[in-house]
Amino acid sequence: TISASIITIGDELLIGQVIDTNSAWMAQALNKIGIPIHRRIAVGDKWDEIWQALDQESALSTLIFITGGLGPTSDDITKPLLCKYFGGKLVLHQPTLQHVEYLFEHVFKRGLPLSERNIKQAEVPDNCTIIKNELGTAPGMLFEKNGCLFFSLPGVPHEMQGLMQNEIIPLLQQRFTLGSIEHRTLLTAGIGESMLAERLVEFEKSLPKNLSLAYLPNYGMVRLRLTLNGENATEVNATINTYFENLKALVADVMITDKDEPLEAVVGRILLEQKKTIGTAESCTGGYISHLITSIPGSSSYYEGSIISYSYDIKEKVLHVNKQTLEKYGAVSEEVVREMVQNAQEMLHTDYAIAVSGIMGPGGATPDKPVGTVWMAVSGNHKIITKKMHFRFNRQRNIQLTAANALLLLIQL
Ligand code: ATP
Ligand code: MG
Repeated sequence: TISASIITIGDELLIGQVIDTNSAWMAQALNKIGIPIHRRIAVGDKWDEIWQALDQESALSTLIFITGGLGPTSDDITKPLLCKYFGGKLVLHQPTLQHVEYLFEHVFKRGLPLSERNIKQAEVPDNCTIIKNELGTAPGMLFEKNGCLFFSLPGVPHEMQGLMQNEIIPLLQQRFTLGSIEHRTLLTAGIGESMLAERLVEFEKSLPKNLSLAYLPNYGMVRLRLTLNGENATEVNATINTYFENLKALVADVMITDKDEPLEAVVGRILLEQKKTIGTAESCTGGYISHLITSIPGSSSYYEGSIISYSYDIKEKVLHVNKQTLEKYGAVSEEVVREMVQNAQEMLHTDYAIAVSGIMGPGGATPDKPVGTVWMAVSGNHKIITKKMHFRFNRQRNIQLTAANALLLLIQL
């Protein structure tokens, strides 16, 4: 049976300077066409390490995907290494040279002749199949050895993705009879993981062996994922849909969405359906809730704007929160977020509003308001709901959780 290993190359990955998104993206793309992933590893720009990784992974998997290290700089050693590993030599590849020339003349438009380094980009091992990279200078390469296929791809994410989508995935589908892996996810809120598990005991017992249920909890919310691995795509789809419908019926009362989408997309869909608008008054999130809402395409049809009232002064002078309320209860209080949300809805002329005020840390705590204390309020439909929460993480995580829970509160309004 076929399975894949993904090797990402680069010192920058090992020190965490660049986050390895390539292997996650590839794993998803391969999974989608029914190829299971055996292992994902990152190695530095070191000859022996890469060599060893190739030995190890080809003993495990039949498909080896390698990204990075193809550039013209001296730290990029993948190409000569692969050449040697498979026992070939580097030769100038005319079609690649023409492509590099074309890119320099018409795309990069540098108006300079190609340097020796640039020309080196067109040197390829003579023992591989070249896969044209429309988007960049370094081509993809396919080597075959002992029944394994080795794909070497550029590290630049959009180039790697282009090659996978346009060339490699079609090639794999043509060459192998691939199974099918399908996922279905839904999001629940307001029920803990263990309560949920209890509710789903019988459902889990009913699952066939190749169908699995995963719980992915995230502060107040639990994402449930069904995964089915089978041979025939039509059958896999039909089976997983049946079980997904059963699952949905069992959690209908706590389900936020049955799609694999973030909360801001759910909010957007609801507002679009209702033809309603929204605005925010943000203190501790500094505009992050607005950022999330506006990261959804089409948000201009429902998002009006925000008043980012971070300081006391702006809360009072711009958002018109009562000075007495601020002084008496403090900025992080139910009374203040209640006024914030009311004023935002009025001033921004929206149907709904969200307001948050909290202490994100690491400083700013008081004995009765520890770091992570947040008050949030949502308004609309002639109602205001307020809620106090306490997050115990670092500043960035506290901000994310505040935003997510405020959006959730709005959905529950
Ligand atoms: P180039 O010809 O541009 O040098 P390359 O194939 O040699 O391409 P690298 O030098 O390894 O690729 O990486 C190019 C860029 O791609 C890096 O600056 C890095 O930001 C990004 N990159 C490399 N590997 C990954 C990865 N695994 N995940 C996400 N980004 C990556
Ligand atoms: Mg590199």
